[in-house]
Amino acid sequence: MPPVFRFAPSPNGYLHLGHAYSALLNFDLAQACGGRFLLRIEDIDPTRCRPEFEQAIYEDLAWLGLAWEEPVRRQSAHLDEYRAALARLTARGLVYPSFESRAEIARLVARREAEGRWPRDPDGAPLYPGTAKQLEAGERAGRIARGLPHALRLDMAAAIAEAGALTWVEQGEGPAGETGVIGARPDLWGDVILGRKETPTSYHLSVVVDDALQGVTEVVRGQDLFQATSVHRLLQTLLGLPEPRYRHHRLIRDDRGDKLSKSSRAVGLRALRAQGASPSDIRRLVGLL
Ligand code: GLU
Repeated sequence: MPPVFRFAPSPNGYLHLGHAYSALLNFDLAQACGGRFLLRIEDIDPTRCRPEFEQAIYEDLAWLGLAWEEPVRRQSAHLDEYRAALARLTARGLVYPSFESRAEIARLVARREAEGRWPRDPDGAPLYPGTAKQLEAGERAGRIARGLPHALRLDMAAAIAEAGALTWVEQGEGPAGETGVIGARPDLWGDVILGRKETPTSYHLSVVVDDALQGVTEVVRGQDLFQATSVHRLLQTLLGLPEPRYRHHRLIRDDRGDKLSKSSRAVGLRALRAQGASPSDIRRLVGLL
């Protein structure tokens, strides 16, 4: 079976040089080993994703010279599959609803920080400070029946107890040079959100479901997602999904050394193209010639 690679952008802005590097690297690696190259549109967030950005992704990648298999998997068309995965975890008692608003969570974190240090996840966000896990089953059901907004959280302690110690094989490297067999640390993320009242999924859940459904064997993506791999390995294990190989790559930075964002206009592929850059100029700029 040939290796399967994928590039999985979110259509919430125009692609920049960092995306170009990731897409070209996946494509080149697939070509070099006779592998397959898939494109996946990660559009589960209807408030941020827009059709014109999705269209621009197809145009920009084709302009770069990439070709991918059709049909493209668009996550928004597969919510039932994520809902089913979430239901399996819920049935095993690994998911609970929490009802605090963002403002309440911020207040709880401030209170806990005033009492001492409150842990933050690897992305710098405070861990969930609430106590919804302790709510009585009847109280939970009542609040849900009343239609209260809620997040569906993984009970991290229970999930880790079930899955045991986990590792992954890192063929690239993490931000601190980590490579080879890496010990997963999902505990660092706390009770992550897997879905919400109005969306039956999250980035973590849909990525692992899709990588498995699409037969992805090689996950090649930026180092900013290195730590998230711990959560992905945990969910893969709980859901009985295969383990891909991982290769986290360096991030393309701007002149100030900051990570590129969708608002970094100067390095947007469309802007560079409008200024007369060619696809090989882009390859040169990201160090892939
Ligand atoms: N959709 C994610 C992003 O645009 C990438 C997901 C992944 O490669 O696992 O950052």
